[in-house]
Amino acid sequence: MHHMTLAEIARGLADKKFSSEELTKTLLARITQLDPQLNSFISLTEDLALQQAKAADARRANGESGALLGAPIAHKDLFCTQGIRTSCGSKMLDNFKAPYDATVVAKLAAAGTVTLGKTNMDEFAMGSGNETSYYGAAKNPWDLERVPGGSSGGSAAAVAARLLPAATGTDTGGSIRQPAALTNLTGLKPTYGRVSRWGMIAYASSLDQGGPLARTAEDCAILLQGMAGFDPQDSTSIDEPVPDYSAGLNGSLQGLRIGVPKEYFGAGLDPRIAELIHNSVKQLEKLGAVIKEISLPNMQHAIPAYYVIAPAEASSNLSRFDGVRFGYRCEDPKNLTDLYKRSRGEGFGSEVQRRIMVGAYALSAGYYDAYYLKAQKIRRLIKNDFMAAFNEVDIILGPTTPNPAWKIGDKSSDPVAAYLEDVYTITANLAGLPGLSMPAGFVDGLPVGVQLLAPYFQEGRLLNVAHQYQLNTDWHTRTPTGF
Ligand code: GLN
Repeated sequence: MHHMTLAEIARGLADKKFSSEELTKTLLARITQLDPQLNSFISLTEDLALQQAKAADARRANGESGALLGAPIAHKDLFCTQGIRTSCGSKMLDNFKAPYDATVVAKLAAAGTVTLGKTNMDEFAMGSGNETSYYGAAKNPWDLERVPGGSSGGSAAAVAARLLPAATGTDTGGSIRQPAALTNLTGLKPTYGRVSRWGMIAYASSLDQGGPLARTAEDCAILLQGMAGFDPQDSTSIDEPVPDYSAGLNGSLQGLRIGVPKEYFGAGLDPRIAELIHNSVKQLEKLGAVIKEISLPNMQHAIPAYYVIAPAEASSNLSRFDGVRFGYRCEDPKNLTDLYKRSRGEGFGSEVQRRIMVGAYALSAGYYDAYYLKAQKIRRLIKNDFMAAFNEVDIILGPTTPNPAWKIGDKSSDPVAAYLEDVYTITANLAGLPGLSMPAGFVDGLPVGVQLLAPYFQEGRLLNVAHQYQLNTDWHTRTPTGF
């Protein structure tokens, strides 16, 4: 049962082959048995899951249908879940039970999903390996000594290990696409404004976007359908009609113009990954796509710009965690300053503290123009590069990551080495564009992802291309040994 995709589960439930309650019990037992190896969950929500499963079965018995009705999922632990711990991977929020559901959580619950639990993540979504979590690293099911990617590493590890078919994630600089690549999943970061950020604990508000992690593009389409849409509670949500993503999966790729940026294949990219990316290009060519070399000349500035903008926004967003209103409070504060200092010093981990300091520095009066303003100008240049490229092509294709999954601990003493892993993913966030990563092969038994980028609100195009690719390849069906 645990090998089924969301699409297969929907068919099985509709055909009464099993109930959502049976499926939920099977998966909860599997999580209890296998998650100690993976550490992919921070909280399990068994009671809620069984209650939602029974309710979904009752709705089906009453004649209701729907691709998500009775489907088991999990939420990255930065989506607020009413009455349930929402830790954001931090000691700061270890004791925090959200007073309301995030819009994404509420929408998916209304569609009939069953929440099995809350997944592990880098603290406040800052990281690329799930190693900064207060709850410890999550493990990659393809090699338990390696990272599953981050920051949505728990969601990725759990889905890759077949503990459940799909999960939510968020992507500020790659945190859906990068863990998808490192664990052989399909993950989609939607256009900025496509999915509501209301109730999603903020890291960098102008970059954060929620999206689906699943094994197939078909399943990403199903989950995104339940997540996307205008939300008046989120002032950056965009009121743009949501297409039927599943209905769009079968479009032909004949004549599709794919741009491959020459800057993507410079030093730093593992040549074995470059070869797999070229193979995926050939595969898409066979399906009718036309390939064109393009240029994104400002790409080299993306990492420095991102690592100013994201910490700047984080330093502002995280100022609310002061030990006064909610979250961690130090013992026996001597006065208000001591309360602030020790609550934040003890509640935040070292990577979060580093980013708050970098961000506060970049925003300070004497340095704002030199760093923050400059980074925002680079951001505009990067967006302009994409706009120019999308005048010539329909999709941009390249690697998702420069390397496969690294060993846990290998990059812990060198934060910049970890930041460099984000080189291919952060530009989409800086420009607000949608991006998808899908399985493209293996290097030394470790999964490799290919990334597709599309113009604003063309999530459907990404899913269509990925689905056609997956109908003609079997990388996405490979299962890690032992799971
Ligand atoms: N690795 C990037 C960072 O640490 C992106 C994280 C994310 O997308 N949440 O900021």
